[in-house]
Amino acid sequence: MSSLPPAARSRAARRLVGAAARGRFALPVCMRCGAVQYPPRDVCVRCLYERLQLRAVPEGGTLLAVTTVRVTTDPWFRARLPWRIGSVRLDSGPTAIAHLHGGCEAGARVRLELKLDRSGEAVLFALPAVETATMQDDRQLREFTQEPRGRNILVTDGSSALGRETARALALAGARQVWVGSGQSSPAFAPRAVPSAGATDLPNIMPLVLDAADPRQLQQCAAQIGAELDVVVNTADGFRAGGGLSPDGAALVRASFEAVVVGLANLAQAFGPALCARAADPAHGMPAWVNVLSIYACASRPEWGAYSAAHAAARSYLSCLRAQFGRAGVRVAEVLTGPLDDPAHSDQPPPLVRPGQVAAAVVELLRAGREEVVVGEVAQDLLARLADSPKALERELARGVP
Ligand SMILES: [Zn+2]
Repeated sequence: MSSLPPAARSRAARRLVGAAARGRFALPVCMRCGAVQYPPRDVCVRCLYERLQLRAVPEGGTLLAVTTVRVTTDPWFRARLPWRIGSVRLDSGPTAIAHLHGGCEAGARVRLELKLDRSGEAVLFALPAVETATMQDDRQLREFTQEPRGRNILVTDGSSALGRETARALALAGARQVWVGSGQSSPAFAPRAVPSAGATDLPNIMPLVLDAADPRQLQQCAAQIGAELDVVVNTADGFRAGGGLSPDGAALVRASFEAVVVGLANLAQAFGPALCARAADPAHGMPAWVNVLSIYACASRPEWGAYSAAHAAARSYLSCLRAQFGRAGVRVAEVLTGPLDDPAHSDQPPPLVRPGQVAAAVVELLRAGREEVVVGEVAQDLLARLADSPKALERELARGVP
């Protein structure tokens, strides 16, 4: 088991995790006097009012002083010394201790981000105010991200445009090696042509025979590539319309669960231990499991009942993996996408999400170290409506409003 950064947090501080997971810079703000609070607390530091809400606040600040830690009793930081931290006066008011990018010097303007550390807890990270081309290569920043450059990545299902585009985007982002799985062979699905699952002009993409329905075959794959594996991107989508009270409803549910949920469980069983072992070595960056999921995992679309239910179950299972992999220091992230512009998803009104958009979101998620990204207008609108009123959204989806 790898050591992890200290994870003790108050409940007030843990509320920052959601903002960090989505890459938003939000801090508690007093609903009476407007004072921004950091560190987070239960009552306003200025007026003792109890209603504090997480709000987006300005990201800028001034770095007042820098400390380079050279001695510590904490095993996680001891393996990464020297480590720079600094006190930053936030433009929004409070002064905070932040982890520092190597380009930040005392007296300089900085830009703050909320990042998730390897324990999955939110921390403040200060970056130079002006972005540079090599900013992502910073040693301390890379402890909080899963930057794809130089890493070995498995894309599980290359039988779809989504899988192929994702592999290509990761290869172009500088991945050392991208293995592209040949896709699933659930017998309940009509076989699909997969002629170009790994065909590519990019030398760092390698096709890999991989059958998510066959645990034994997956174990063989894991034995072959597991020791070098940094990131798994599961692109299995398993789309089929239907699944309600139609004659084939139960069969569709079974097939969807086989492809999306059982496939995920098989893949996790096979490759999870390799990622956890990789996490224990400080020489490697933080390993990650990224799962592409339909936004209808969050609220069922009745005409896609089986598909929605399978993705909801996969999302629930992913939370279980997040807890278990998280203890080893492996990030588990999800890319929630609206309806895809893919031949498999027929008869949908625009706006549709192009597979390339999802691929770009996967790269961005890894690069920023996020835990969740939402792709497309339909998906973002659905989440906003879900936050507003789950029952109103349920009625709208029942009446065919996507
Ligand atoms: Zn106040």
